[in-house]
Amino acid sequence: MNVINRDCGWIEVVCGPMFSGKTEELIRRLRRAQIAKQRVAIFKPKIDDRFSTDHIVSHSEARIPSVAVDTPQEIEELAMEAQVIGIDEAQFFDESLVAVCEALADAGKRVIVAGLDTDFRTKPFEPIPQLLARAEYITKALAICMQCGNPANRTQRITSDSRKVVVGASDIYEARCRNCYEPPDEEDE
Ligand code: ADP
Ligand code: MG
Ligand code: ZN
Repeated sequence: MNVINRDCGWIEVVCGPMFSGKTEELIRRLRRAQIAKQRVAIFKPKIDDRFSTDHIVSHSEARIPSVAVDTPQEIEELAMEAQVIGIDEAQFFDESLVAVCEALADAGKRVIVAGLDTDFRTKPFEPIPQLLARAEYITKALAICMQCGNPANRTQRITSDSRKVVVGASDIYEARCRNCYEPPDEEDE
């Protein structure tokens, strides 16, 4: 009997705070698959229109073409022919993403998901924690603290907006370590 079943899919999650290189790492893995002539499908949520609507773009300006979708169900439909599926900014999808990733992996596909594991209050950011519990492979990336240079696993919002989702980059957020992170005022939500 073969030890490796070639029809077996899996889930990889790349998580961490903003600026930790999640998107760079996702692009790196997807490019390698494309070079190896695997069929690759790449998605991101429509809400993330910061740099581009038809590319995934990192803060270091690496980019790769992608399809913007509203729901995980669209990913399931559009990814049927793909062997490798990349999903960026996965924290912006609802929790139905978990079942979609499981179904795609069960169907023999390699599913690579990148997203924030915590929000700007340091609270777990669903559905990433659910995906971490189910994934075969997990990479937890760190940024560099903008205050002291230590490894940074937190995202500091440097404006006073208290909504959970405010799409932005270094104009609104910076990477901070445990020591330098300052909790936002507890207010409405
Ligand atoms: P993420 O997707 O995790 O937000 P990206 O892959 O888009 O991260 O960007 C990573 C890049 O961000 C780094 O290679 C670097 O050029 C840049 N960067 C900006 N601020 C920082 C920081 N504080 N620490 C590390 N990298 C940073
Ligand atoms: Mg990113
Ligand atoms: Zn620090």
